[in-house]
Amino acid sequence: MTVRDLLNAKGREFESIDPDTTIKQAMTRITQKRIGSLLVMQEEELIGIITERDMFRVILERGTEGFNVKVRDVMTVNIVIGILDDAIEEVSALMTNNRFRHLPIMEGKTVVGIISIGDVVKAQAQNLSIENRYLKDFIIGKYPG
Ligand code: AMP
Repeated sequence: MTVRDLLNAKGREFESIDPDTTIKQAMTRITQKRIGSLLVMQEEELIGIITERDMFRVILERGTEGFNVKVRDVMTVNIVIGILDDAIEEVSALMTNNRFRHLPIMEGKTVVGIISIGDVVKAQAQNLSIENRYLKDFIIGKYPG
């Protein structure tokens, strides 16, 4: 199973935000949309990622002043990305080893979606249950030969 398969099932929509938006606006967006990250886009180009962890940290460090900090001052700019042909096992290892839970998917310079560790776990669980069903059918002799 590849990232392409996962996105085909999940959809290619993603939430983005302007770098000059405040942390408070970013927090409002992730709360309303029930998501954990926003892709920071400038003129349709991906320039960063900001997640709930980054927002949590800025509020912890600066208190309520942190609400007025700009997204560009807190976002991560060294973004690790995935591509449509990546295997789910590969992106799972990538996210686990690097300790982040969000992976923008790119086709050239265009963002074509985002996957979270939750999406990956769900896809792997579905795969396992399908495999399990085939194995059970095999054991009880459903298949000829
Ligand atoms: P997360 O676990 O996704 O909330 O992210 C933990 C930290 O890693 C935060 O500082 C994020 O900005 C950063 N981060 C999240 N996703 C990525 C990514 N794909 N590439 C680089 N950094 C990331």
